[in-house]
Amino acid sequence: MASRNQNRPPRSPSTRKEIGDENPLDKRRRLGAVGRGVGPTATGRTRRAFSAVNNLQDATTAANAENAEECHEFTKEEVEAILNERPKAKKFDLKAKYEHAAEHNKRLKLCVKWFQQCDENHVLDKEKLKNSLESAEKKCIDTELEKKNKEEELNAVISELRDSNASLQEKLSKEVSEKLDAINRHKSEIEARVTAEKSVASLTEDLQKAQQDIAAANERAASLDNTHKRLQEYILSLQQYNSKLITDLETVRESLKRVEKEKLTIVENLSSLRGHCSSLQEQLTLSRASQDDAVNQKETLVNEVKCLRGELQQVRDDREHQVSKVQALSAEIVKFKESTGRSFAELDNLTMKSKSLEETCSSQREQLRILELQLAAANEKLKRADLSASETRVEYLEQKRTIQELQDRLADMEHKLIEGENLRKKLHNTILELKGNIRVFCRVRPLLPDDGAAEGAVVSYPTSTESLGRGIDLIQNGQKYPFTFDKVFNPEASQQDVFVEISQLVQSALDGYKVCIFAYGQTGSGKTYTMMGRPEAQEQKGLIPRSLEQIFQSSQLLQAQGWKYKMLASMLEIYNETIRDLLSTNRSIGSDPTRAESAVSGKQYTIKHDANGNTHVSDLTIVDVSTITEISSLLRQAAQSRSVGRTQMNEQSSRSHMVFTLRILGINEGTEQQVQGVLNLIDLAGSERLSKSGATGDRLKETQAINKSLSSLSDVIFALAKKEDHVPFRNSKLTYLLQPCLGGDSKTLMFVNVSPDPSSVGESLCSLRFAARVNACEIGVPRRQMTLRAADSRLSCG
Ligand code: ADP
Ligand code: MG
Repeated sequence: MASRNQNRPPRSPSTRKEIGDENPLDKRRRLGAVGRGVGPTATGRTRRAFSAVNNLQDATTAANAENAEECHEFTKEEVEAILNERPKAKKFDLKAKYEHAAEHNKRLKLCVKWFQQCDENHVLDKEKLKNSLESAEKKCIDTELEKKNKEEELNAVISELRDSNASLQEKLSKEVSEKLDAINRHKSEIEARVTAEKSVASLTEDLQKAQQDIAAANERAASLDNTHKRLQEYILSLQQYNSKLITDLETVRESLKRVEKEKLTIVENLSSLRGHCSSLQEQLTLSRASQDDAVNQKETLVNEVKCLRGELQQVRDDREHQVSKVQALSAEIVKFKESTGRSFAELDNLTMKSKSLEETCSSQREQLRILELQLAAANEKLKRADLSASETRVEYLEQKRTIQELQDRLADMEHKLIEGENLRKKLHNTILELKGNIRVFCRVRPLLPDDGAAEGAVVSYPTSTESLGRGIDLIQNGQKYPFTFDKVFNPEASQQDVFVEISQLVQSALDGYKVCIFAYGQTGSGKTYTMMGRPEAQEQKGLIPRSLEQIFQSSQLLQAQGWKYKMLASMLEIYNETIRDLLSTNRSIGSDPTRAESAVSGKQYTIKHDANGNTHVSDLTIVDVSTITEISSLLRQAAQSRSVGRTQMNEQSSRSHMVFTLRILGINEGTEQQVQGVLNLIDLAGSERLSKSGATGDRLKETQAINKSLSSLSDVIFALAKKEDHVPFRNSKLTYLLQPCLGGDSKTLMFVNVSPDPSSVGESLCSLRFAARVNACEIGVPRRQMTLRAADSRLSCG
């Protein structure tokens, strides 16, 4: 509005006065209004303008009018009136016409002037409006920009608000969960509170009881007070009664006195009367007639006295009675006094007691308050402890369950493992049986104190799954030589561990197989320890005693199935291609027992094989073992003969082969089946390469013999593996002896014994290489020797 007013054209003060604050819009409206309704609706102001135009005759005001007309504003009607004006003068009144024309002209000029002014004003207005439009547009753009900025800001704010909304919602959910937790906690708190309230209730009950006790005690005290008061009152009344009695006594005494006085007076009277009597007796003489009267009088008086005396006596009695009563009463008073004193003491006691009771009550109240506080604290603690305990319990249960699950799984796995291992062994056995391989086990003995200083381990055991327990790596001069066998026993393996692995093989001897177990290796590598061990020590027994024990036990068990076994054991030694009977009881022991024996005793020990594949060694001692004691005595004898040989034969044992043979003959009475199994356990001579240089005589012969027998053993094995037509069994006594057991239908196992002594590494490598070659050999498929008993067949035993 203000801007519009500013754009209005300047006006003279007079017109401004007339128009006031009217703006151009108002003016336009006025013009419209004039156009619509003319004449009677015209305003006073318009009329005045007209009058100013029309008042031509008013000469005096002409100048003023002109002045006013200069800046007069015209309305539409006025303009039209001016334009439509016709001369009012008479047709020929030219002067008037002229005047009118001049006047008209003047007004027209004025009108034109006004129009021009209006136009100018309009132009100005237009410009101003344009400016204002521009500024408004600018403003509009600005506001638009602002709006955009604002919008962006608002968008940012909105996104912020959304974020905050999301976070708030998160918070809300969190708070809701917290609240739920809190509600749960609150519930548990309420429960705890209920229990606490219960305990508080019980405590308050106790308190009430205690208060009741106190009240009862107070009541008792009050009743005692009452009794005390009553007793005092009673005492008072008794005192009053006593005083009354005393006053009574006094009155009685007074009356007594009076009576005595009366008596006295009476006595006086009597004396006077006696005097009078004497006078009267005198008078009697004078007057006997009046004597009787006087006598009568005297008698009545005596009676009266008697009466009075009786009264007196009565009064006396009464008095005594009263006195005794008084005495009793005073005694009673004394008693009452005493009892009052006692009741006072009792009262004091009771007050004391009540005081102490009150004290204990207050202290108990205090204690109760403390206990309540403690209870609350304990409850709080309990709650916390309960929470943590439940958490722990849950955790514990979880863990227990997991442990149980794990244990179950472990047990399951272990069971599976055992089953798997058994299956593996069986399958392995089957595979080997099918392949016909010679199985090779490797055993490394522990380092002995006598061994050279360890310059680092020369033997290691790979831990990869495929060669775990089956691989062995030998390190020589920094080079690693890996070997894999059917089984590798490290130094920790016990005799039992080793036996477990061959027990199946031993069992198969019972089932009718021919079984050969060799121990191969250099001297001191543990062959004898593996085969024989120390039979006297339970833990260190070797394979031979353990096999014998197992066979013996199994044969006992199989008796239940109708099997009867005959077991024949023999033990010999091959030294320099000569056989020595280790179980012979009448061996002569000389300086060279090996040679001397056969020479002296004339025993030949010739080896023969029959058609059934049974081997006989002539003159060889064969022991029928049927009890466990026989076995142990046999082993003792064998060990003794070998050890005797060792000491006497200067370490000959390392250069001789020891062959233990157990022939097992089983007959089943029920099924008419018979089996013939053979178990050969052979402790070979030391495999070390003996230098031939420098060896002469016996030594040379010995060396040659060992080399020959060991090389013929390998020759036989390799020939069998190659399935050659000719197998050189006869090249050595050992191979010839074992011929039936090395053939295609036997089960053969070789132990390669290795010493971990670094100085033996070369020999160990040779042994392992030989064993590896043997392990690769296929010598045939084992066959069980089992026949149905022929009517006349006999078991040939050696
Ligand atoms: P070999 O018969 O091969 O010459 P031995 O069996 O006589 O060797 O063993 C040599 C030494 O090593 C013996 O004293 C023996 O007790 C010991 N020995 C061998 N193997 C083991 C072992 N596995 N555990 C303990 N000592 C052993
Ligand atoms: Mg030995």
